[in-house]
Amino acid sequence: MIPIDLAKQTYFSGSAFFSGLAAQLPDSGRGLDPVELQRVAEIYPAKITSGFLDLIKEIDDPVYRQFVPSVEELAECGEADPLAEQACSPVGAILHRYPDRVVLLASNCCPVRCRFCLRKRLWAKEGQGAPANLEPALGYIKNTPAIREVILSGGDPLMMDDQSLKDLLAQLAAISHVKALRIHTRVPAAMPERISQNLLEILARHRPLFVNIHVNHPLELLPQAAKAIGLMADAGLVLGSQSVLLKGVNDNAKTLEALFADLYALRVRPYYLHHLDRVKGVAHFVVPIQRGLEMMDGLRQRIGGMSLPAYVLDLPGGWGKVRLDSHSVKYLGRGRWQARDFAGSTRIYTE
Ligand code: SF4
Repeated sequence: MIPIDLAKQTYFSGSAFFSGLAAQLPDSGRGLDPVELQRVAEIYPAKITSGFLDLIKEIDDPVYRQFVPSVEELAECGEADPLAEQACSPVGAILHRYPDRVVLLASNCCPVRCRFCLRKRLWAKEGQGAPANLEPALGYIKNTPAIREVILSGGDPLMMDDQSLKDLLAQLAAISHVKALRIHTRVPAAMPERISQNLLEILARHRPLFVNIHVNHPLELLPQAAKAIGLMADAGLVLGSQSVLLKGVNDNAKTLEALFADLYALRVRPYYLHHLDRVKGVAHFVVPIQRGLEMMDGLRQRIGGMSLPAYVLDLPGGWGKVRLDSHSVKYLGRGRWQARDFAGSTRIYTE
């Protein structure tokens, strides 16, 4: 597979990340400790697009928090693989948790590095869209008739080069029991210039093709992003969004209301608001579940149901997602929750 020509895209990583950040914060930058931040970045690399870098106005603002390394990431808390993804991987690049669908880790490259990412454990292996050998994964999908949907994730599948993505989608679409394809991506907001006419034609060839766009703050929906998203909707792609509830980023009702309303106006149906997974070193982003539920309750009175995503928790250990506002979940007190997983078993989650 040929990597996409990232030289033509504008993004910052390595030492360019830190010089770009210092240039962006000439005054408040005095509070930055580049040595400390680089120490974190050696373990968990930093990467940001120029569009998002421009949005950073001060230390710890919502965009800064999402993409700039923090020493808090080195705290000994959380797990490398809290959702036991490795245990549900029958072959490389496949995650098979629910009977009717699989996640295909199609790319190991992202336009940005989100500090709270579920798959930080895989970051060290980043290439420029260079994939693992996907043949065993395709073979597994072909030989498992129960799989109705393939969800392309990563990394970010839209960081693959056009030809490789085209070939992969065609191979998946040729499997008769695969009825739907879905792509999870940060690209439309983070790197809207990637949404080219050629890419749109490749994606539009497949129906139904669902695209879930990862956006956490209304600031990320810049005019270029809005335009790219509009082109995707015009091309007939079915658009949804995924957001993560993050302390210091979007943990207030006003921000969430603006985010969901803006997405809806762009023809993107807000799909999931994720409670943060207990990934190693992300405790500084945690918002208590009660607080998340209160905000969602308040939003229910202010915006229509079509704009309101499901607030979900992925149960640690790989027991799947539960809707936090459903009858399947009960608060037991002292930060303990009881939840019924997708297979009907009772699980206890402790915050
Ligand atoms: S774009 Fe997605 S996969 Fe990549 S770092 Fe961000 S959350 Fe993780």
